[in-house]
Amino acid sequence: MKEYDSLVIGGGPAGVTAALYLMRSGMTVAFAEMLSPGGQLLMTEDIENYPGFPKGIKGYELADLFAAHLEGYHYDKYSDTVKEIQHAPLANKVRIGDEWILAKTIIICTGARYKKLGLPNEERLTGRGISYCALCDGNFFRGQTVGVVGGGNSALEESLYLSKLVKKLHLIHRREDFRATKCVQDKVCIIPDIDIIRSSAVTAIHGEDSLTGVTIRNLATGEERDLALDGLFIFVGYEPIKDYYPEGLTADAGGFIITDTEMVTNLPGIFAAGDCRSKTCRQVATAVGDGATAANSAFHYLEKN
Ligand SMILES: Cc1cc2nc3c(=O)[nH]c(=O)nc-3n(C[C@H](O)[C@H](O)[C@H](O)COP(=O)(O)OP(=O)(O)OC[C@H]3O[C@@H](n4cnc5c(N)ncnc54)[C@H](O)[C@@H]3O)c2cc1C
Repeated sequence: MKEYDSLVIGGGPAGVTAALYLMRSGMTVAFAEMLSPGGQLLMTEDIENYPGFPKGIKGYELADLFAAHLEGYHYDKYSDTVKEIQHAPLANKVRIGDEWILAKTIIICTGARYKKLGLPNEERLTGRGISYCALCDGNFFRGQTVGVVGGGNSALEESLYLSKLVKKLHLIHRREDFRATKCVQDKVCIIPDIDIIRSSAVTAIHGEDSLTGVTIRNLATGEERDLALDGLFIFVGYEPIKDYYPEGLTADAGGFIITDTEMVTNLPGIFAAGDCRSKTCRQVATAVGDGATAANSAFHYLEKN
């Protein structure tokens, strides 16, 4: 069985940064990514808020630049899914695909994914009118008409943010009452440009090259109608990929891994970085910072032990 100082799981911004810092500190590194490296960058049309790119950059271009930064360093790349971690201090056994490896430390950078509505066209039109991130994509819909789906704090807080940019916002919620906190609801209800559509669900998404609208069904009456939209923001939940977490790893109620500010988890030698962590700001810049911090912590952990 191959043995490494550290295994980095996930090839998004957090994982790439962690691997880079580990290799530059002389550690032997295994790097596992189940898809193409880039993570959620590959779902993002334009990134305008990552420092160094004042004119913005395409998500796939930034992903390519991140991957290129690892060229010239020596590491073992596993293009497969991490399926199981058996934690033991300085001797973690990890199954990647069908292969077992040993890693003294592990940095978990497996990100998170937005829950989808699960409708036809949703996947295809993501980044072409459909978004799961108002902070990232809101600016593209300045002066336009958008829909927001959801009724929790994320949906309402993102609606407040979007309402400052767009001309008209239709907030579509499947229940009569919102789950969001009362003070957020109060703020949303007094904004005239937010049209609240209660007890309604999106049943179809329309558009060829880009989104043109949705069909919504009133769940009380069964009546359906079409709504023309330039953008659709879906906030029906966000979830980490957690089926392979080692036993005993502490996570919050949503399954996000709890760490301290040094990315240290409750299991010795296991660190977490990026969107898989329990935190409030999930962005490329924060993932990169987490990755660097986690690598530094793993290095010091090995030095001490
Ligand atoms: C549509 C959209 C637009 C966005 N726009 C912006 C923006 O404009 N600006 C900004 O700063 N942020 C934006 N973000 C957020 C940003 O992309 C994320 O915060 C960032 O990518 C998180 O990086 P990460 O490395 O933590 O995780 P991710 O990018 O999610 O990467 C995780 C990686 O882990 C891999 N993985 C998962 N499980 C396993 C496993 N078991 N085995 C092996 N590999 C695994 C995945 O395949 C993935 O490649 C956007 C996100 C989305 C979805």
